[in-house]
Amino acid sequence: MSIVAIVGRPNVGKSTLFNRLIQRREAITDAVSGVTRDRHYGKSDWNGREFSLIDTGGYAIGTDDVFEAEIDKQVELAIDEADVILFMVNAEDGVTAMDEDVAKLVRRVKKPVMLVVNKVDNHQREQDAYEFYNLGLGDYYSISSINGNGTGDLLDALVDKLPDTVEEDNEELPKFAVVGRPNAGKSSFINALIGEDRYIVTDIAGTTRDSIHTRYNRFGFEFNLIDTAGIRRKKKVKEDLEFYSVMRSVRAIEHADVVMVVLDATRGFDGQVQNIFWLAERNRKGIVILVNKWDLVDKETNTAKEYEAMVREQIAPFTDVPIIFMSVLNKQRIYKAIETAVEVYKNRSKKIKTSKLNEVMLPLIEQYPPPSLKGKFVKIKYVMQLPTSQPQFAFFCNLPQYVRDPYKRYLENKLRENFDFTGVPVSVYMRKK
Ligand code: GDP
Ligand code: GDP
Repeated sequence: MSIVAIVGRPNVGKSTLFNRLIQRREAITDAVSGVTRDRHYGKSDWNGREFSLIDTGGYAIGTDDVFEAEIDKQVELAIDEADVILFMVNAEDGVTAMDEDVAKLVRRVKKPVMLVVNKVDNHQREQDAYEFYNLGLGDYYSISSINGNGTGDLLDALVDKLPDTVEEDNEELPKFAVVGRPNAGKSSFINALIGEDRYIVTDIAGTTRDSIHTRYNRFGFEFNLIDTAGIRRKKKVKEDLEFYSVMRSVRAIEHADVVMVVLDATRGFDGQVQNIFWLAERNRKGIVILVNKWDLVDKETNTAKEYEAMVREQIAPFTDVPIIFMSVLNKQRIYKAIETAVEVYKNRSKKIKTSKLNEVMLPLIEQYPPPSLKGKFVKIKYVMQLPTSQPQFAFFCNLPQYVRDPYKRYLENKLRENFDFTGVPVSVYMRKK
């Protein structure tokens, strides 16, 4: 999927536009899980063309000086990662020195850059906007993110500029992405897996400029590894930006079937890792959590157990996820990690017969029917799995709108107990029948 980045100095209205563009979709996709979401990454679509949208604002912290430096880095990174760049300025403030700095960065880019003049709320502002020709970026799109004026034209032009995404590798091999914050041990993990051995069939700089797809074929496992580690080599930016690891992970996650979230045991399941985890969950990908550097942790009787409980608490309500304690250094459980990812892959592609589903689920529903709401009784008649690439179930009933999230969670849990969807987000929908 194509990536569109919104760049620009603070306060021009990036998040306002971002929220406007993702709103409709987010309401649909997040109704099921109800989890917190990253405010800076979402999906949007226009005339049937879907794209990922990244808002580069808001990650930067610090004093003004640091702030400017951070913005430069974020813009550079966004430029690297995105397919189309929306460079936003605003007609209220006119051209500022910082706009000129950003313009300098984007002028060098070979990719489509669209100059967006925001806060054009009225006719006077239309006039004011002319001065943005001075940025040397040619024509601009004037919009008002607050009332939506001009956003339709902007989107028409935007989707025209999206590259045609041909599905690069049509081969049916499972795709596993290795993601996590810097220094967690991702490269070491991948090196330990593929090392010097001759089992790697090809090494294609595949789908994108950045993520490398390596075909892996060994011990009876065959899959494509999507490696984000390689991207870092050319980076000069400070590594510990939340923004940075999220940006790097977006594309890898979108291309993967199963995401291996690697974390450094000594650092725990911190904010950055959580972001990456939820990114994978929201994209409905299979997930395995790999707690690496387990050799560095002083162990007592219950250390692993307690650690696991701590992680599960962080990922609630989606706790049905494998957690593996590994040490790449000691080559401990690295194959177990792969084995588990393969199992999760299978769980994700699992198709359950309608007859079997109903045989198991209907008695459970009868035992514990949806609670009545406003005197209405919901009668669930049957359930079927939808023919999608990841598990989605439709429960057909008389009054779908009267079924609340807790009951859907009950249904999800029963599906998990009976059919094993470990590591896989499961969607439950109520449909009218
Ligand atoms: P960001 O820092 O670039 O993400 O900017 P925000 O989206 O947070 O917007 C900064 C301020 O500008 C907020 O107070 C918004 O309400 C306001 N704003 C955003 N878009 C418009 C617009 O089209 N017209 C006007 N008048 N104000 C806007
Ligand atoms: P990446 O940034 O996620 O790719 O992390 P690297 O693979 O570059 O690893 C970062 C550092 O952690 C390196 O110094 C590795 O040698 C070290 N490291 C990786 N795995 C382990 C492990 O299992 N145990 C210990 N003690 N160190 C490790």
